[in-house]
Amino acid sequence: MLTTKIKGNAYDVAIENFDAAADAMALDSATREIIKYPERVLAVSVPVRMDDGRIHHFDGYRVQYSSVRGPAKGGIRYHPQVTLDEVKALAMWMTWKCAVVNIPFGGAKGGIACDPKHMSQGELERMTRRYTSAILPLIGPDQDIPAPDVYTNAQTMAWIMDTYSATKGYAVPGVVTGKPICLGGSLGRNEATGRGVFYAIQSACEHLHMGLKGATVAVQGFGNVGSITAQMLHEAGAKVIAVSDSTGCVYNPHGLDIPALMHLKALTGRVEGFPEAESIAHDELLTMTCDILVPAALENAIDEDNASAVRARMIAEAANGPVTPAADKVLESMGVFQIPDILCNAGGVTVSYFEWVQNEQHLFWESQDVYSRLERVMKTAFRDVLNLHEERNVPMRIAANMLGIGRVAEAVRLRGFCP
Ligand code: GLU
Repeated sequence: MLTTKIKGNAYDVAIENFDAAADAMALDSATREIIKYPERVLAVSVPVRMDDGRIHHFDGYRVQYSSVRGPAKGGIRYHPQVTLDEVKALAMWMTWKCAVVNIPFGGAKGGIACDPKHMSQGELERMTRRYTSAILPLIGPDQDIPAPDVYTNAQTMAWIMDTYSATKGYAVPGVVTGKPICLGGSLGRNEATGRGVFYAIQSACEHLHMGLKGATVAVQGFGNVGSITAQMLHEAGAKVIAVSDSTGCVYNPHGLDIPALMHLKALTGRVEGFPEAESIAHDELLTMTCDILVPAALENAIDEDNASAVRARMIAEAANGPVTPAADKVLESMGVFQIPDILCNAGGVTVSYFEWVQNEQHLFWESQDVYSRLERVMKTAFRDVLNLHEERNVPMRIAANMLGIGRVAEAVRLRGFCP
């Protein structure tokens, strides 16, 4: 059973952050009324025949927060603690995130409340196909494009693409991103979020006049995003001293051998038991003395209870919503530099956009092309957010939200609305 408990309500956090940014930019009340609420919310029942013959019901959701700037876009999450409020929050964040990196997408998110670690491949496939059928009226390459998120991956996307394509009678690769390369996936998409986090950290280091070589790093979460971020930082000469996953936490003050740790994780599914490392408690990682703290797990990891104990110079928010508004205030007063989630982890959806463009054009880009375009997008977005942070004298999170919300608001004003 996945036991990591998500604290607090992500939607309350999303709304609080929205209001703070909307106030700071003096957003007019008409635009506020239009963009504050999700455009469409779909809750579906997902009955699945389990391997033992029983039928089990799962709750599924798809929320389209906004399609003002383009097709709704966002991942699908499988986790026991998925709720409608969480999916709404994540869909709202996708909207501002796509606008921060200035890609022509709106925001969406989906999820199923389930425990994927205790389901067979067959059960996962049947659940995914049934869920896809249930959200069929919403998705499509010009409407709403799912992608991987927590505990979903390229295989999940292949099942969604197949189920959708079967209803059309021909292959529709552009209905999902993050698919396997042989089905029209993009080179560089699998590692895109982690790579984007790395570029954001590079920009932040430059801004803070801080060297990456020898910098100490702690990474909470060793899934796709946490592991790739750790790997890239390790390759750049940083010292990753602590890594955790949902089962445990390992620590070595001299730096962990990240490629070896990734190998162990691939073999056993856990970081626990890694030689040349000490096992420590989960909570210790977030409050350990380090230069860069990377929360790459779930929402609300840093809240008012532990924020004042944080001993990092910089927090790179690889997860969505890992820091609560109350914690933001504490960190701000302590002078911790934060790279907010909707900027920091936007590399994933950026390369999703590249994948979708390639699908639309029936073209295939070289990996170097993907990397250099991603670097440009991330570094431009970082500079745009930093400029607002400095010019308007607001925290980095508010600056990122102001940029994202501002772009959506401008689109709303130009489009107007009908009927
Ligand atoms: N799940 C990722 C995110 O939260 C990627 C979404 C996408 O590529 O559509 O940003």
